[in-house]
Amino acid sequence: MSDAATPGEFELIRRYFMQDVEHACSSDHVSPSQARAGIVLGQGDDCALLSPSPGRRLAVSVDTSLADVHFPRDASAEAIGHRALAVNLSDLAAMGARPRWFVLALTLPDVDEQWLEGFARGLYGLAREHDIALVGGDITRGQELSITITVHGEVDDDSAITRHGARPGDLLAVTGTLGSAHGGLRAWFNGQRDERHPLVAAYLRPAPRIKEAMSIQQRVSAGLDISDGLLADLGHLCARSGVGACLDATALPLDQALVASLGEHEALEAALNGGDDYELLLALDPEQEDAVRQALETLGGALHVIGRVTSEPGISGVASTGRGWQHFHAADHGTGASP
Ligand SMILES: [Mg+2]
Repeated sequence: MSDAATPGEFELIRRYFMQDVEHACSSDHVSPSQARAGIVLGQGDDCALLSPSPGRRLAVSVDTSLADVHFPRDASAEAIGHRALAVNLSDLAAMGARPRWFVLALTLPDVDEQWLEGFARGLYGLAREHDIALVGGDITRGQELSITITVHGEVDDDSAITRHGARPGDLLAVTGTLGSAHGGLRAWFNGQRDERHPLVAAYLRPAPRIKEAMSIQQRVSAGLDISDGLLADLGHLCARSGVGACLDATALPLDQALVASLGEHEALEAALNGGDDYELLLALDPEQEDAVRQALETLGGALHVIGRVTSEPGISGVASTGRGWQHFHAADHGTGASP
């Protein structure tokens, strides 16, 4: 992707996306810290060679983030980098997997090195927080900014959190407030450009619940991350487990800033259908409630019980016409990211 005025793909990768690669002597190919990260051969060949921990299973997930579909293109480059990795890490959290490696495919409309520097800062900031190494990728030029990330994590065979283990009588619970990200997106569309605004921050810089999931994975029956909206994702959980759910609308955790911004009715609607929360939705035996709550609180998190799993199919207890966020059903909103 080069012309005379701009650095080529390999130079851009070297400048911005090889930050954790200490140049090992040529006979070694990897540095000691890379070897500790399970990297047998890192960036610089046709493939990375990776070594999972003995006896553990790989968890792999891919997500694409498109400008003005998954994030506003005028958000800061740092926030875009953070968010693109965060939504992928959230899928590892949903399984209780420990993050290990990721690859990045970036399509850029033009080469703006200031933008790339900010993007890499946001990306690496979160990557280091969760101890996941960038081991490959590419950069191409295209009409729209597009970020595709594939994450690899690992998990013990018998302790992955799945969608299919919920049983009637289980409690349903979430790990944090719902609807705030949707409120932040609406605030953004209404002109709020302060990325530290609590609702805007909830949208642009979600915190994947990696540590939380790893600390409770053996105590929950089922779970997933809330990306499409509580009702839509609860529907996925129920379908996979062959159960139904009864929610307590009064128990849904709403941020006061969200209620202040949208009013109670709209805030509740955002919590049910807004999406982009990236909290975990968990099903757990009532006997596990105290232990799970304690584990989450130890990490500075929370457990909010919002209902119960039922044997009757369907979701009861809330009145909502929403159906969650489905990208290709939202074309009439003008931009896919609109509320
Ligand atoms: Mg998910």
